Amino acid sequence: MKIFLNKKKLVDLIHREKNLGFVPTMGAIHEGHMSLIKRANLECNKTIVSIFINKPQFNKKDDYKFYPRILNKDIYLLKKMKVDFLYLPKNKEIYPYGINRNIRISPFRKKLCGKYRPGHFEAIADVIERFVNIIKPNKIYMGEKDMQQLKIIKNYISKKYKKIKVIGCKTIREKSGLAISSRNLLMSKNDKKIASKVYQILSLNKKSIVNKKISLLHIKNEIYNLGIKKIEYLKVLDINKLVKPYKKNKKYKIFISYFMKSVRLIDNI
Ligand code: AMP
Repeated sequence: MKIFLNKKKLVDLIHREKNLGFVPTMGAIHEGHMSLIKRANLECNKTIVSIFINKPQFNKKDDYKFYPRILNKDIYLLKKMKVDFLYLPKNKEIYPYGINRNIRISPFRKKLCGKYRPGHFEAIADVIERFVNIIKPNKIYMGEKDMQQLKIIKNYISKKYKKIKVIGCKTIREKSGLAISSRNLLMSKNDKKIASKVYQILSLNKKSIVNKKISLLHIKNEIYNLGIKKIEYLKVLDINKLVKPYKKNKKYKIFISYFMKSVRLIDNI
């Protein structure tokens, strides 16, 4: 695995690649990231992973400050996964002149997480576009765990960069059902157990929730009874109607964001 701290040599090397798969991450590599890398390794000639904790997409100082940083372990895992290139840019290289304030993305940006994290998806579209312009990948691999992010970025990139494909990959879960996330490192064993019960309640009741046999209010109360203090949102949405062009067939998912103590978790089931 070749590691690049800046783009100079990286660009020379990778722009010759004909089928380059790109997996953008913020590090604290886990099985969710690894599933994207596996898929990129299978479908592309070469795979490049980036680790960059993108400050502008954080809405709270502490969330950025306490975001897990375990670079040595990340490098070990990525080498084991036979990643070809790892790009670890500094802030200055990505934002030489600050952020782009003219990012125009789908109106879906205002729903779900966007309602509670103003500017979050614009900041992600901005940073992904910056990486796209440096790396010029053929395919970008992203997780369905962050479904809203995936839909918005897929829409944004496919309109502006017609040759680049954004590929969504299934959510990887722990045995308990808890979606794997770098932020899980910030939770105790017991907190994780409670969080997995949230998943279990939603997946067990999904059919009845979608058919409106059980109300969302009832489910919210069940979740509060687990000891969760704050649910930001709990919504049922047709994922084929989230961003235009809409598809005809219906595919409902339950979207949730809640706080397990101070850790904000999201999932879709
Ligand atoms: P992050 O490092 O959290 O920014 O995530 C980098 C990429 O990994 C994003 O495209 C995420 O959607 C994806 N990802 C994170 N967790 C999972 C998971 N449990 N399963 C699948 N993909 C994931």
